[in-house]
Amino acid sequence: MLGFMEDIEKKDPAVSNVIKQEHDRIEHGVELIPSENFVSKAVLQALGSVFTNKYSEGYPRKRYYGGQEFVDVVEELAIERCKKLFGCEHVNVQPYSGSPANMAVYLTLLDIGDKFLGFDLNSGGHLTHGSPVNFSGRLFKPVPYNVEKDTELLDMDNVRKLALKEKPKMILSGFTAYPRKLDFKAFQEIAEEVGAYHFSDISHIAGLVAGGAHESPVPFADVVTTTTHKTLRGPRGALIMCKKEDRLKEKYHPDWKKDLAGMIDFNVFPGIQGGPHDHTTAAKAVAFGEALKPEFKQYAKQIVKNAKALAAELMANGIKLVTNGTDNHLMLIDLRPIGLQGKGKELQSALDEAGITVNKNTVPYEPVSPFNPSGLRLGTPAVTTRGMKESEMKVIGKGIATVIKNYEDKGAKEKVRNDILELCKGFPIYPGFDILK
Ligand SMILES: *Cc1c(COP(=O)(O)O)cnc(C)c1O
Repeated sequence: MLGFMEDIEKKDPAVSNVIKQEHDRIEHGVELIPSENFVSKAVLQALGSVFTNKYSEGYPRKRYYGGQEFVDVVEELAIERCKKLFGCEHVNVQPYSGSPANMAVYLTLLDIGDKFLGFDLNSGGHLTHGSPVNFSGRLFKPVPYNVEKDTELLDMDNVRKLALKEKPKMILSGFTAYPRKLDFKAFQEIAEEVGAYHFSDISHIAGLVAGGAHESPVPFADVVTTTTHKTLRGPRGALIMCKKEDRLKEKYHPDWKKDLAGMIDFNVFPGIQGGPHDHTTAAKAVAFGEALKPEFKQYAKQIVKNAKALAAELMANGIKLVTNGTDNHLMLIDLRPIGLQGKGKELQSALDEAGITVNKNTVPYEPVSPFNPSGLRLGTPAVTTRGMKESEMKVIGKGIATVIKNYEDKGAKEKVRNDILELCKGFPIYPGFDILK
């Protein structure tokens, strides 16, 4: 790709063809999965660079292999830019992805079997926030907090009551499917009141935080993780930010020989990872550089404006949204009020046929099941990257409502498919780049 396609085309047409087909799929459809985005050409180029060849276990200037003079520079660039972007005291940029980053945090702050509070899965938490099938639920003791049944919002007074009753060692703030803002300061106050760590996972909203469109947990929380590939628009990967010192050292870790930052680093490598993916580190540095530019603030604001416009259009067309709207980049369609309870899977496929990519999702207090859920999750980071604005959100919102109301009608889906094709023509993902070259 991007000038690297010549060899793969000749030597491996099977793989090269599916790369082209995937490119066509994203180019001619609208991508509304809120955890996805399109990275810049510069990020793709760093990912395709010779840094993929290197082994560099350890940290800058403390490695286990030779030949590190340039790897060290690129990792230090990523670290310095990230510190500037989020204003954190310490950062580890090596985690392979969000799940291993979270694992390193659990292994640092908790002992096996320790109790923690996390957002209930059905209400918007992530697998790594205490699901029974995930390491977080298998090795530790999760106590879920939930949104209120009537408002579908988090009530911080009830989170506080639960924390006072359960006395957890850690409180996790973060989500994958909550359409409103989180009050990180309130989470911190509760954590301090009950003597617990505050671990914040901003994987979904890191780009909004970096761009000033959502409050940051970094000034408060003991540890903050994020993926780098969602709203932050970097390569697949993650990072861990933390305070240098352990606020609760006396209470929980009197015999630690390192500070909190040192323990986080130790639990990433050698705790759970081997050699860092240096090509990804290079791409993270590029993405952080992009996020530091003034244009990124505009981007983050536009993501939220687009989400609000899309939400308004859906509601104007009779579609119910969880909490009746959004304050961030994502929204959840509630299919129950229009008699489509448990039809999330069918509607995801119907929208796929119309060139609109979303994912089926549970709604709070899901009445059916996670496999046949009663909701759809959608968001605006990727369409905003393409340059789409409020007026395009209207076209998309109308299309979604039409498909939902006529999901078994082939003609209706085809008509929306054509409107989407027409819309996408004006917003190439990589302008001026010919996939056939
Ligand atoms: C996406 C996500 C993760 C996991 O990231 P992976 O890179 O898929 O492992 C963790 N936490 C939250 C809140 C997420 O949204």
